[in-house]
Amino acid sequence: MKIILLGAPGSGKGTQAVKIAEKYGLTHISTGDIFRENIKNQTELGKKVKAIMDEGRLCPDDVTCELVKDRLSKNDCKNGYLLDGFPRNLFQAGELDKFAAPDKVINLIVDLGKIERRITGRRSCPKCNGSFHIDFIGDVKTCPTCGGELVIRKDDNPETVKERLSVYEKQTAPLVDYYTAQGKVIDIDGDQSIDDVFSSIVKALK
Ligand SMILES: [Zn+2]
Repeated sequence: MKIILLGAPGSGKGTQAVKIAEKYGLTHISTGDIFRENIKNQTELGKKVKAIMDEGRLCPDDVTCELVKDRLSKNDCKNGYLLDGFPRNLFQAGELDKFAAPDKVINLIVDLGKIERRITGRRSCPKCNGSFHIDFIGDVKTCPTCGGELVIRKDDNPETVKERLSVYEKQTAPLVDYYTAQGKVIDIDGDQSIDDVFSSIVKALK
C-alpha cells in the first residue's frame, strides 16, 4: 500500500501519520527526515543538499525527487510507504508517478481559521518554560505559574501562521486536483477527535 498524506500544518497530520504507519506496517517517510539523514551520513546527495541549504536556498525539485526515490528504493519500503511532506507540487507528483505512484491520497480537511486561532493563541513563558493557550488562561500578559512575562513565539505570530497556511493552500490545491483526476483522493474530516479522524481513515482505506 502506497499512501500520501496531505494536511495543513497544525492539522494533526503528524499524529495520524504515526498511527497509519503502525496499523498498516508502512514506513513513514517525511522529506525533513530524509534531508537530515543524508546530511548526517554525508552521502553524495546529502552534501549537495547541505551546500544548497548553507546558501539559504530551497532544495530544488530534482534533488528532492532524487532523495525520495533513493529512500523509497530501500528494503523497508517494499511493503509500501506513507509519504508525508512530499510531493509538494505537480512536478514532484509527476516524478513520483514514474518511480512509485501512490495508491491513495489521504486529504485531511480542517478549518484553517480554527488552526490559525489554535496556533496564534499560544503563549509561552521564557522564565519557567511553561506553555499556555489564551482559550484557557485568557489574554493575559503574565505567566499564571511564575508571574513572568508571556511571549508569542516567532513561529506562532499571526502573520507567520497566515503565510504558512496560505502557502499550504496554494501548494496543495493543484495536487488535490491532480490526484482527484486519477481517482485516488480520500477526503477526511480533520476537525474531529484524533481517534475519530483515525477511524475515518481506516474505514475509507478498506
Ligand atoms: Zn512562567
